[in-house]
Amino acid sequence: MSAYPLLEYLRREELPHTMCPGCGGGTVLNTFARAIDDMGVPRDDLVLVSGIGCSAWIPSPNFEADTLHTTHGRAIAYATGVAVGNPDLETVVISGDGDLAGIGGNHLLHAARRNVDLTVILVNNFTYGMTGGQVAPTTPHDSITTTSPFGNPEDAIDISGVAAEAGAAFVARQTTSRPQTLVNDIARAMQTDGFALVEVVSQCPTVYGRRNEMATAPEMLEWMEAQIDAGELTVGTIAETDRPEFIESLEAVSERARSEQMPAEDAAPDHDGRDLLLRIAGEGGQGVVTAGSILGEAAARNGRNVFKTEEYGSRARGGLASADLILSDGEIFEAAVPSGDADLLVALTPSALQAHQSVLKSGGDLVVDETTLETAPSEATAVPFERLAEEAGDARALNMVVLGYLTAAFDLADVGTVRGTIDRHVERLLSTNRRAFDLGVEAAESA
Ligand code: SF4
Ligand SMILES: [Mg+2]
Repeated sequence: MSAYPLLEYLRREELPHTMCPGCGGGTVLNTFARAIDDMGVPRDDLVLVSGIGCSAWIPSPNFEADTLHTTHGRAIAYATGVAVGNPDLETVVISGDGDLAGIGGNHLLHAARRNVDLTVILVNNFTYGMTGGQVAPTTPHDSITTTSPFGNPEDAIDISGVAAEAGAAFVARQTTSRPQTLVNDIARAMQTDGFALVEVVSQCPTVYGRRNEMATAPEMLEWMEAQIDAGELTVGTIAETDRPEFIESLEAVSERARSEQMPAEDAAPDHDGRDLLLRIAGEGGQGVVTAGSILGEAAARNGRNVFKTEEYGSRARGGLASADLILSDGEIFEAAVPSGDADLLVALTPSALQAHQSVLKSGGDLVVDETTLETAPSEATAVPFERLAEEAGDARALNMVVLGYLTAAFDLADVGTVRGTIDRHVERLLSTNRRAFDLGVEAAESA
């Protein structure tokens, strides 16, 4: 038996650790390992996520499990991705108050509201420790920090109270002065189905304590106990609710979406396994984003994997606007159509053509509105989109002509599926939009 029974949970090659003598981070590491050991959580099931700061170093690199050391304030956002991507994992965030309640406060708020199945161990040492002891949103009123040398003029946030109000399934506050109750609460948090927060009031003798007449760990631990005795610090369970957990709700919605999807074999055009990368570019107000959304949804209904993103200016009308789509039978790893990779570019105005033509790969298809033709290269295909929209009854239906033309000319999705998707999306002037779509289809078929 080793001298320290939890040694197997530490990455021994990282020892000695870099925490200051007396730092509460050691107690958090120890109690977390004890809880994992007591519960018998398999190490392969654990993912530990931290942000930036002294407390972010507690799991990473010290704990022997998969760890994600992420950017400042974003640990809960990363952890949400892990938990949603693989709900079978035990995803635990361990990070500090500055990281999780200050810079990342918004993520904490919304993960609690969504009730994402995460355990968050928020180490509250009242300060930004690693960067030298600046005032944090958790710093008590009148406390001395490097940025409040005459006392903090602000009140501290009650981060456990905020998480409870936001809808967390389990919230507890404990102190490093009470390690066994801390172990118990970490275990309860990990057993919770939903968002669980354990706020651990912890000592930072080095940069917080010594500025506030508590330069050693024992002085800080005694101060915590005195605060509890005086009723200034509430410990124990703060909230426990039975709300539906986010991933369950998400799966229910996904199931609904899947059940409404058309069977792929009835509708999907066959692209021989090729990916199709395309951009529809025009001006704000021309409906390129809507056209992209409808096309993307229709292709997904046809059973393809679809990535879609869009770019538009700060005004509803005018300025450049574009929609990127990647249609694939496999997994998609791009977050935009890369420059020089598009199979197809539709440019509805001369300025859109100028701004976006570099996205087209060599030999790719360029489609322009006939009004853009003057500035377009000779190999471009010009289609009278605007004129056909007017023929349908309204120039604003230009995006539906584009949609009809693209669907039919490039076999991007089943025409009937796109029609059905238009009916679901378009509320105003539906018959005009349908007519515009059909004119686009006819233009492609007669070309
Ligand atoms: S500065 Fe404070 S929080 Fe950071 S390691 Fe030292 S004692 Fe711990
Ligand atoms: Mg801190």
